[in-house]
Amino acid sequence: MTPEDFRRHGHALIDWIAEYLEGVEQHPVGSRVQPGDIRASLPEHPPASAEPWEDILADLDRVVMPGITHWQHPSFFAYFPGNTSYPAILGDLAASGLGVQGMSWVTSPACTEVETLMMDWMQELLGLPAAFRSTSASGGGVIQGSASEATLTSILAARWKATGGAVNHDGDTSRLVAYSTSQSHSSIEKGLRIAGIGTEHWRIVPHDADFAMRPDELARMVAEDRAGGLVPFWVCANRGTTSSLAFDPLPEIGAIARREGLWLHVDAAMSGIAALAPEHRWVNDGMELADSYCTNPHKWMGVNFDCDLFYVADRVALLGALSILPEYLRSAAAESGAAIDYRDWQIPLGRRFRALKLWFTIRSGGVAEAQAMIRRHCQLTQQLAEWVALDDRFEIVAPHPLNLLCVRLKAGDTATDAMIAAANDTGLALFTRTVLDGQVACRISVGGRTTEARHVAAGWELLQSVAT
Ligand SMILES: *Cc1c(COP(=O)(O)O)cnc(C)c1O
Repeated sequence: MTPEDFRRHGHALIDWIAEYLEGVEQHPVGSRVQPGDIRASLPEHPPASAEPWEDILADLDRVVMPGITHWQHPSFFAYFPGNTSYPAILGDLAASGLGVQGMSWVTSPACTEVETLMMDWMQELLGLPAAFRSTSASGGGVIQGSASEATLTSILAARWKATGGAVNHDGDTSRLVAYSTSQSHSSIEKGLRIAGIGTEHWRIVPHDADFAMRPDELARMVAEDRAGGLVPFWVCANRGTTSSLAFDPLPEIGAIARREGLWLHVDAAMSGIAALAPEHRWVNDGMELADSYCTNPHKWMGVNFDCDLFYVADRVALLGALSILPEYLRSAAAESGAAIDYRDWQIPLGRRFRALKLWFTIRSGGVAEAQAMIRRHCQLTQQLAEWVALDDRFEIVAPHPLNLLCVRLKAGDTATDAMIAAANDTGLALFTRTVLDGQVACRISVGGRTTEARHVAAGWELLQSVAT
């Protein structure tokens, strides 16, 4: 491909993306293909010679499109929001064009410095503790690829701290114990496994009727483990669980963590972004007690995957756990302490210039747009809850302070599952299920960038029409 071809094809691809996003509503929300269908529509072997670009682009429509579940569809009520926006897409494109590896400051100073500033801007925009700012005494933030990586990174920092750094030299971690509720994300258990803590030393703290952690139970379990000769070291508090958007009480959990010397990680991957709207800042209540925190602009802020914000109040443990300095990465800037090398703040070495998509989004008016979107989603969810309350076949099974409503049919699990399947089969909307206290529930996650009242109303009418 010549530079001239690149210009021409690039413009065509931008047109293709714009047309896709403008027309996304015409597609069935969930992909209809069966496993293997997509592969079967492609040649089994790579092409022997170059193909015309037009054929390649055409296959986006012919081959790829049938296998897409349309996360950007305004009637996508499944999983969690994963919305994109135009400036963020362009930011990602610019990052691809620059093609830099930002593992160290010296490998591309702008990649590091724009990122550090974006983390500080977001600390301000979300109203997070000042201790998370890069300009604070010991805190700072970094963009991670995902909340799962942020959680693992937090566990590794806490593990380093709990062992006084001995873990870097085959120190004993076999007595370390971690805590969260059963409602916490699967990445918590996965992170504990990867970090060598293991599922056996993951304590599931009982939750209350609202699916939030019971601090009295946490305190009891910590005491029990200590009495048993174990070392409680890490607790994960959810601010917005994936299953039902439950909020663990941070002030109480934080007080226990402080008293007991546990690292407190706050997982707000899905709901932390709500704090962009000042009236939802309550999602941060108690955050000043957190040792680490993460939230995902790639869920609810129009910044396409991957963009997770990870903050620590004390970077010493993080750098202690993850800094390794081979000869070929030494630089005067890093050794003087004047520059941040983000490779020491994450699992991989290499990193893309992800801050660009955040920077573009914030500067092109995306914060006001995200605030308006968040407010609209929350209002629509409350409106939906009122409609649901009027149909006595349904019940609401969890608190719904933001943009997720969990409902079930009083007729039971089979009926609720059948309703979800029948609604999804129409292609008009997409819902996912969860199980809350042993009962199946339909999750209605209102989070599309272009989701309006009419989509929520139609989604609700669809559920009603297939409910028994
Ligand atoms: C979505 C989610 C995660 C995982 O996010 P990734 O960025 O995909 O790793 C973790 N925790 C919570 C509460 C989530 O909602």
